[in-house]
Amino acid sequence: MPDKSPSTLSIPAKAMLKLGLERDIDLALHLPLRYEDETRLTRVMDLRDGDTAQVEGIVRECRVDLRQRRQLIVKLDDHGAVLLLRFINFYASQQKAWAPGVRLRVRGEARHGFFGREMVHPTVKVVQEDTPLAASLTPVYPTTAGLPQAYLRKAVAAGLARAPLFEVLPPEVVPPGWPSLRESLRFLHHPSPEVSTFTLEDHSHPAWMRLKFEELVAQQVSQRQARMERAHLKAPALVGQPGGLHERLLAVLPFQLTTAQRRVTEEIAADIARPMPMHRLLQGDVGSGKTVVAALAAAVAIDAGWQCALMAPTEILAEQHLRKLVSWLEPLGITVAWLTGSLKSKAKREQLALVASGQAQLVVGTHAVIQDQVEFARLGLALIDEQHRFGVAQRLQLRRKLEDQALEPHLLMMSATPIPRTLAMTYLADLDVSTIDELPPGRTPIVTKVFSDNRREEVIERIREEAERGRQVYWVCPLIDETQESDEAADTRAGRETQRRPPLDLSNVTQTHEELSGALAGQGVGLLHGRLPAAEKAEVMARFSAGELKVLVATTVIEVGVDVPNASLMVIEHAERFGLSQLHQLRGRVGRGSVASVCVLLYSAPLSDQGKARLKAMAETTDGFEIARRDLDIRGPGEFMGSRQSGAALLRFADFGQDEDLVHQAGEAAQVMLERHPHAAQEHVRRWLGGKAEYLKA
Ligand code: ADP
Ligand code: MG
Repeated sequence: MPDKSPSTLSIPAKAMLKLGLERDIDLALHLPLRYEDETRLTRVMDLRDGDTAQVEGIVRECRVDLRQRRQLIVKLDDHGAVLLLRFINFYASQQKAWAPGVRLRVRGEARHGFFGREMVHPTVKVVQEDTPLAASLTPVYPTTAGLPQAYLRKAVAAGLARAPLFEVLPPEVVPPGWPSLRESLRFLHHPSPEVSTFTLEDHSHPAWMRLKFEELVAQQVSQRQARMERAHLKAPALVGQPGGLHERLLAVLPFQLTTAQRRVTEEIAADIARPMPMHRLLQGDVGSGKTVVAALAAAVAIDAGWQCALMAPTEILAEQHLRKLVSWLEPLGITVAWLTGSLKSKAKREQLALVASGQAQLVVGTHAVIQDQVEFARLGLALIDEQHRFGVAQRLQLRRKLEDQALEPHLLMMSATPIPRTLAMTYLADLDVSTIDELPPGRTPIVTKVFSDNRREEVIERIREEAERGRQVYWVCPLIDETQESDEAADTRAGRETQRRPPLDLSNVTQTHEELSGALAGQGVGLLHGRLPAAEKAEVMARFSAGELKVLVATTVIEVGVDVPNASLMVIEHAERFGLSQLHQLRGRVGRGSVASVCVLLYSAPLSDQGKARLKAMAETTDGFEIARRDLDIRGPGEFMGSRQSGAALLRFADFGQDEDLVHQAGEAAQVMLERHPHAAQEHVRRWLGGKAEYLKA
């Protein structure tokens, strides 16, 4: 075995590992970004301005010129037509090698300079009169610092030659007329010069189709396997009692369920009544009422004698769930435990004991709920709110934790970010989806206004009126550190709530807080951001919920789930700095009661055209599905899959937007393989996904 410890590797070899180019198959699947045509020579006399071309000629002169800037100038003669080659960076060895009389083959962009035709920094090769031209297009590979194209080309060519590229897909699942995998790869690495580079670049060539198909089949097989594995797992059958907790909870709710809420509640109840673990996503726009649906599922689980856990991405949100669930369930005799990273150790021990003994039927908290010390007596149902805010690693951690007991718990994930259909079919084929497609009645739609920052005074005046009428107001400021989309959520995702964090620029939010405190003296203006101690955050939130504070100046810590129905005005400062989905989430904090609500998007001029279009889109629609569609167009699928799990990283060749038909074909092929060719299915997943298969199942 060669020693592969990183310290003994050369720089390019390390860079290759970084790109994931380890096995021969990895190299064979590292496809060119584009191609260069070195199969032809262009006559220097035929060169037009701007042409990228390959030419050949004899060196007539090679000298260092010091007139303007030190540079190497080579005069190349092609049948009497002269081309100047200019190099700002060069080695003495090059000057020596390119001596007069030597034949050079060069490739670069031609232009007309001061002294006639020239190329700046072309690639250069010393050749003989009979040196053959390339027979195929030259691949240009995606690379990284420290990994020269030439080194990578050699490595890929070697990997391609060695990789065992036998056909794994049975002929019956491959669409007729498509090239084999080996043919496709050979072709894509070294296409013949007469092929249309357009079909290569837009990935519509049959060789590309074959590759995308292979990839999608692997992904679909692995998703279906995950579903089949789950079908073999046992979960407690959770069935509520007639007149039980579920019904008593319905009776004390201050409202009637919407038709959509009733429908999804029944879907969930039917699922958890089966002795196989549920794996379901509950999606519904902000304010559609997902929490009560989750609470009703919890009531069924508790009624059946099992524990239920609810995990939220931020402490503020978890706390709010806690308050709501306690107010609903404690009067009905249910004990609720509370787990977050900021609990003092004594309190934490007490809560852990409640969970371990089974005395607490419901556990609410942040990611602390899935930490190692937490042991459940009988966990039957896990609820994850705003699931897209958790990273893949945490979802995996949860599933592993759940493996500890003899029976798997059921899993219900909630999200206000609707998942586009192709995405649901590819990544989430192992997930059932319930959708709440209606808002509770009596909501007055939110009116959104887009104002320039110079109308700030006017806006503050409006806040005063609103507060005097007994209504409440949010004022949201972005964090200046643009890398932190939401301070608290980012921490939670990283799983280190208590560690030291780099300083953030909070000047915007604190200054605005001072400004508003001054302008609205006597109205109670609170300040909330992720860097406040947990107890202080909780206190500010509680005072705002109770109506003691009329105005809350906050960072995006309030983005997810915060629910104060009396709030009727939201001002978002520097709205141009937020993503569309984030603005929608923020805006969803108002319009939760029956009063007419307004959202003011303040921007600082000048605004780009795209920026204007984005804010206009926010003013035009309050439909989260429509906003998600527009956001998907702008940002790509990665954002939908949760933090660091980008669509691009998992699907390298296929594209959700463009390859919907292929996704369907691949789904059918995957089914056939699993039914009739289970060994091939296994082999195929191993070849394509290697160690990534686990991630795809999270
Ligand atoms: P989300 O789906 O964004 O999590 P919530 O569960 O926080 O929404 O619900 C938003 C608000 O609507 C809450 O104040 C909740 O009590 C209320 N609500 C939920 N369902 C109904 C209903 N059927 N009728 C009236 N109000 C409801
Ligand atoms: Mg919610």
